[in-house]
Amino acid sequence: FARFSDVQKSYDGETLVVKGFNLEVRRGEFVTLLGPSGSGKTTCLMMMAGFETPTHGEILLDGVPINKLPPHKRGIGMVFQNYALFPHMSVAENLAFPLEVRGMSKEEIDSKVANALDMVRLGEFGDRRPGQLSGGQQQRVALARALVFEPELVLMDEPLGALDKNLREEMQFEIKRIHQRLGVTMLYVTHDQTEALTMSDRIAVFNDGIVQQLATPEALYEAPENAFVAYFIGENN
Ligand code: ATP
Repeated sequence: FARFSDVQKSYDGETLVVKGFNLEVRRGEFVTLLGPSGSGKTTCLMMMAGFETPTHGEILLDGVPINKLPPHKRGIGMVFQNYALFPHMSVAENLAFPLEVRGMSKEEIDSKVANALDMVRLGEFGDRRPGQLSGGQQQRVALARALVFEPELVLMDEPLGALDKNLREEMQFEIKRIHQRLGVTMLYVTHDQTEALTMSDRIAVFNDGIVQQLATPEALYEAPENAFVAYFIGENN
């Protein structure tokens, strides 16, 4: 459904940060890009979202090449570690924003915003400013905002990185629940093995600009294909 085909990326015209990246995410699947800091994971998401252009290769959605399509025409939702909420807008206004950009009617916007807030269990918080919410609640708002326009694909870049351990576990569960309920396709980025192993249908272990191994959590754990995968998955365990 969402495919990277031999994608390369260089920022300076010399060194390749992404070196020949191939990955196909099936419709409805939860796939995690797992790899160390600086390995190029964020760059891959940015290319899928349309904020960076590949130096080489093709990105496809539903079989259609989208390299030239601007971000707002891709129908992709995004969640970042730092939430990126608008501080001067209420929670409901934050959620309404991507719908207004798409030219929806006021009634439609109100109903979609209410549904999205219910989904992340923040039905009572629409009038608050993000600054009046806890970190976990702000991340729920960011999640609701990524889902409110009913995207087919949601990209998440270390969305739980700023939360403490208990909240992280709660939000992992919350994200999985929403994934199962909506059947939306998710491409998730983390450097945390445990998080990847608990949440994903499949994991792409990423290092040095390429996928080292793509497999289910069980297969990765039981049969790592090379020394890097074995080391990275084994760390902390
Ligand atoms: P992290 O988990 O730390 O975010 P990552 O795996 O997501 O790491 P990227 O953020 O994709 O890695 O970065 C990969 C490499 O590309 C790094 O060496 C980084 O310095 C470089 N890089 C990222 N964005 C840019 C940019 N806009 N301009 C130049 N270099 C960049």
